[in-house]
Amino acid sequence: MSAPLWSEQKEGRFFTRIDVTTMLNGATLSVPLHVVTGAQAGPTFGIVTNTHGDEFLPTVAIREFLGALATAQLRGRLVVVPVANPMATAGFGRLTPEQHGRTDLHEVYPGNARGNTTQMIAAAITENVLHHVDALIDFHSGGSGGRLQARVDYNTSTPEDLKTRNLALARAFGAPFVHENEFAGAAAHYLNGRGIPAVNPEVGGSYLGPETTRYYTRAMIEGLKGIMGHLGMIEAVAKPRRQLQFDQKARREIRPKHSGYLVSYYEKAEELGQLIKGGTKLGEVVDIYSYKVLEELVAPFDGFLFFSRYSGVVGGGTQAFALAEAARSTWLD
Ligand SMILES: [Zn+2]
Repeated sequence: MSAPLWSEQKEGRFFTRIDVTTMLNGATLSVPLHVVTGAQAGPTFGIVTNTHGDEFLPTVAIREFLGALATAQLRGRLVVVPVANPMATAGFGRLTPEQHGRTDLHEVYPGNARGNTTQMIAAAITENVLHHVDALIDFHSGGSGGRLQARVDYNTSTPEDLKTRNLALARAFGAPFVHENEFAGAAAHYLNGRGIPAVNPEVGGSYLGPETTRYYTRAMIEGLKGIMGHLGMIEAVAKPRRQLQFDQKARREIRPKHSGYLVSYYEKAEELGQLIKGGTKLGEVVDIYSYKVLEELVAPFDGFLFFSRYSGVVGGGTQAFALAEAARSTWLD
């Protein structure tokens, strides 16, 4: 495994693009890469975002965070892929628009340099980033659906020692929820297989309006500081607050059966984390043709709201709300 071209960088900022392939419009598809090197030695922390092309908010928060970071005080190095799937992003979509299957970059790691385009992108990120980091976050967000959420997903199907390190990384981010989740084929999952701690924050969404955008941008910047303090790259920040941990069995998504206009009763980011009583009405779906109410969306049990969305059009089967069942969730102090 050869050292990447950025490994010789001295203190300061560096930006490059890693060429992947030629697209059908004739332009070169390349993966962008920021490297910020501190004055002092320390770990290499990788950040990948826009794995899903329409999840824009984290990269905006990362830009703000990097702009304010003083390299003179930084220990170690940040390696950041600000748009992991530029083709998906250019298409305003989640997946790579290409001819072949396996177009979700979140499912194809470590990739294949002679596979389809999505696999080629993964291979470039694996070779130039994943193989050289001591910890990683693959930063996700909501797409165009107006999501309200703030949690960190981590993989628990790992040896006990790594599970502890993954949980510590997830908690250092400081989101109100940590979710035991499993994504085979994800960058974090691949790194976990190599014994490296890596987790997936999932915060906010695109097109949320100014107040909520600011709220989540601030949460993401605090999360990055929390993780870097935990890794010893900057001064440690305050201990993470109380967080709710839940696994996939505790997770219940409330998905409308019908497409229509969702009238959401939970449209404030601050409302997440609330204990909702079973039977509470969360919203309703209205038919934009007949103007009838097609269905009411109701909490199936007592649970903590960890995912909500603004009112807006939804497709049948899309996530509208999600609850962590209270009886199966644990508070971490
Ligand atoms: Zn995503």
